[in-house]
Amino acid sequence: MPELPEVEITRRGIEPFVLGKTITGIAVRNPNLRQRVPRNIARLVVGQQVRRLLRRGKYLLFECDGGSLIVHLGMSGSLRVIEPRSAPSKHDHVDLVFGGSALRLRDPRRFGLVLWNRGDSTRHPLLARLGVEPLGEEFTADFLHRVTRGRDVGVKQLLMNAGIVVGVGNIYANESLFKAGIHPRARAGRLSRERCARLVQAVKETLVAAIAAGGSSLRDFVHSDGASGYFQQHYCVYDRATLPCKVCGRAIRVVRLGQRSSYYCASCQS
Ligand SMILES: [Zn+2]
Repeated sequence: MPELPEVEITRRGIEPFVLGKTITGIAVRNPNLRQRVPRNIARLVVGQQVRRLLRRGKYLLFECDGGSLIVHLGMSGSLRVIEPRSAPSKHDHVDLVFGGSALRLRDPRRFGLVLWNRGDSTRHPLLARLGVEPLGEEFTADFLHRVTRGRDVGVKQLLMNAGIVVGVGNIYANESLFKAGIHPRARAGRLSRERCARLVQAVKETLVAAIAAGGSSLRDFVHSDGASGYFQQHYCVYDRATLPCKVCGRAIRVVRLGQRSSYYCASCQS
């Protein structure tokens, strides 16, 4: 599943090809994504010029004068820059054409989204209730300390709550908690301010490192066959059950918390 780093790398990868460009066409071969692509999408977007390409959580926002095209990659989506005439394969559901080049959405599981929103995209129902950006200035120790008070929930579940902070999925929640030395089941409401500070720092470092790793290892966004925009990473705890901890050598454990697998080192994460 594309996580925040993949979406941010996608944004950076495609930005030079869409910024300032005018949308000249849109081809929708299969509109049945998580929400149906609007039937009149062509009328809404053709002629719009992309002023900014932003990321909010895992949403990509193609900001134009008349509104924004909102794209989400869902569970399996990827975007790449192609020649508009190149033949689509089975899961290439949408092409966004910019004259001599196009952006192609491949989404085998069809949980992605392609929507148009008039006006301020931050007020769109999908975006209005999102929490702070983990790499933004609002995500601080004070913020985390404040929002965790009185919360009798495991800190990992809180970290994955997009209404509080966006885009920290299961992988990065596991990795950040390991880095901060905090047990995934620790009660959020009991985290000291110091531990909140360590966790905020760990989340930011983990995401920045992932973006850097992806940016350097990912194949070009242009004319690649674009099987996926995802990259391989080396994790400390995620998906490493029973393997030795990279710090202390003890076996990594796994438990189910809130229906997600939580990996941790019982010795490093007290
Ligand atoms: Zn350890």
